[in-house]
Amino acid sequence: MSRPRLCVTVTGETTTDLRRKRDAVTDADLVELRLDSVSDPSVAGALAGRRRPVILTCRPAWEGGGFKGSEEERKRMLREALALGAEYVDIEWRARFIDLIAQTAGRRIVLSTHDFLDVPVDLTARVHAMRSTGAEVVKVAVAMKRLSDCVPLLDLGAQSGRQGGLALIGMGEYGLATRVLAARFGSVWAYAGSLPELGQLTPQALLKDFHFRSLDESTEIYCLAGGTLGHTVSPAMHNAAFRAAHLDAVYLPLQAASAEDFVRFGRAIGISGASVTIPFKVALFDHVDEVYAVARRIGAINTICVQDGRWVGGNTDAIGFLEPLRERVRLDGLRASILGAGGAARAVAVALASCGCSVRLHARTRARAEEVAVLTPVELGAWPPESGSWDLLINCTPMGMHPRVEDTPVPADHLTGRYVYDLVYNPPTTRLLREAEARGCQTIGGLDMLVAQAQEQFHWWTGTRVSSGVMREAALRRLAEFARNENHLV
Ligand code: NAP
Repeated sequence: MSRPRLCVTVTGETTTDLRRKRDAVTDADLVELRLDSVSDPSVAGALAGRRRPVILTCRPAWEGGGFKGSEEERKRMLREALALGAEYVDIEWRARFIDLIAQTAGRRIVLSTHDFLDVPVDLTARVHAMRSTGAEVVKVAVAMKRLSDCVPLLDLGAQSGRQGGLALIGMGEYGLATRVLAARFGSVWAYAGSLPELGQLTPQALLKDFHFRSLDESTEIYCLAGGTLGHTVSPAMHNAAFRAAHLDAVYLPLQAASAEDFVRFGRAIGISGASVTIPFKVALFDHVDEVYAVARRIGAINTICVQDGRWVGGNTDAIGFLEPLRERVRLDGLRASILGAGGAARAVAVALASCGCSVRLHARTRARAEEVAVLTPVELGAWPPESGSWDLLINCTPMGMHPRVEDTPVPADHLTGRYVYDLVYNPPTTRLLREAEARGCQTIGGLDMLVAQAQEQFHWWTGTRVSSGVMREAALRRLAEFARNENHLV
């Protein structure tokens, strides 16, 4: 099967506006013209002077669209679009406009079905019936309530024997894979646009972030598994590294409803590896085939590598934390104070204890600190730590992280030690680091660890290393984009 095309959906207030937006689209193979979005729908006006192929759609209100006129009027417009040579006309399965399909013997017809609530139980039978009409393309757009709702769409693509003629879309945030991995789902094209409520990605995101045009059925799939993945820089880092290493692979964020949900989809699509984030770092212990000792000691999996079909869980946080530190500091005998007692603090405590540091843990919730002390030899200290009690201070709390950039875990006049390491990476330079530097401490920012742990993941997955600058620059670019977008929203 050839690579899927990219179709950009445009809406407008008037037909003239729709035409203007149509002509502003660049880098798309097709433009879907949503005639139902305009106040003065004119088929001839929408099609006039087009420079690239279009799909003309006039979605009725009963199928989630904006057209409020009669069915006769709608049918007349769709017939006119076919007569005027529109490259494709979208017709809803439930409209039963069988005579329109017959008019072209199915050619140029996109026969569509939408379900904004769920994946219909009769989906396979419905698609079979839709295909039997002879429509050139059968489009299925269904709401995803969880990541594994994508599996029936994957099965549909596989059952179609790659004959083509399917466009399969999972709507909502759980459906992102159906858009980025259109080739793997067996779709003839992916829809992009500016309707995030449907889970649509912008064409720029598909093309620039995920390199959509270079993905095909055999592209290896890596992902970030997590609960909510709003502001993540991991896809930017890993996709930049895959490009730099000339590997046919893609990395995408996969939001899942539970660890089981992620595993069901990940096994069905055949991922090659994953980064793991909150809240699945512990839950995935029960779902992988093997766990490396370091992940057991830390009590969290942050990486999965698939080896001969077996899912192996590991943890690159400890080594990623140590790498930037070892370059600058002799650790043996150093007095280290860790702030916080969550997942990151556990990895840091294990790492520092293994390097001969004397480690003290400071947490506002003593019970959590006691849990860490069971895993690894640490002393429990006061919150916040007393000045003069540490050589190396590590912030493993989210204090100072965007948007609360003025927060800091330790008053400036307590920053009396030699080194301060802040795991927070957004912003790259926190208030804690600024104040520590002003007091003469040597500082390390969280971005160094973020890049180092990602480098370790990449190496484990691919056996390859790329220069750390590749990931670092990609992460900084993405953080700057987040900041710009937020300023824009304000
Ligand atoms: P976590 O499991 O939620 O733990 C957070 C810890 O911080 C808990 O002990 C929590 O205490 C404490 N805490 C939160 N707010 C606090 C406050 N206002 N005052 C005092 N203590 C507070 O989170 P995590 O996964 O360990 O991550 C912690 C930070 O490290 C995050 O900012 C994360 O982005 C960063 N991190 C960076 C990297 C990297 O590569 N640079 C890697 C991992 C994590 P309670 O239990 O009392 O709530």
